[in-house]
Amino acid sequence: MHCFYHREQEAVGSCKSCGKGLCPECAIDLGKGLACRGRCEADVQAVIDLVDRNIRLQPAANRLIQGGGSVRIASALFFMATGAVFLFYGLTSDREMPMVLVLGVCFLAYGLFYLLWSRAIAVRAPKADA
Ligand SMILES: [Zn+2]
Ligand SMILES: [Zn+2]
Repeated sequence: MHCFYHREQEAVGSCKSCGKGLCPECAIDLGKGLACRGRCEADVQAVIDLVDRNIRLQPAANRLIQGGGSVRIASALFFMATGAVFLFYGLTSDREMPMVLVLGVCFLAYGLFYLLWSRAIAVRAPKADA
């Protein structure tokens, strides 16, 4: 590969932004990548910053996914508790309230389904970042 700007010069690397071959005279080393001197410096610096930020944000993103899992489990438990209250109310009440019983069963079933579903996601999550 030859330098894009000096065809007679052997390139030492390529610009991380535009991909052109660069000789030592044209290349500026930004630590984690080369850039065309005076042309792509800002672009390459932005790309490097972006990658750095993503790497730093990765653990936070993982915590967010795990946090989301516990929020889902909490709401599943909330649904199940609501269903239990409905069932208890429907069973202990003097009057017959089939709708309350049906609602209670629905809430319980939904909560249970939600709990199993969120656990399935929590188990799958660690494999997702590998
Ligand atoms: Zn460039
Ligand atoms: Zn050059």
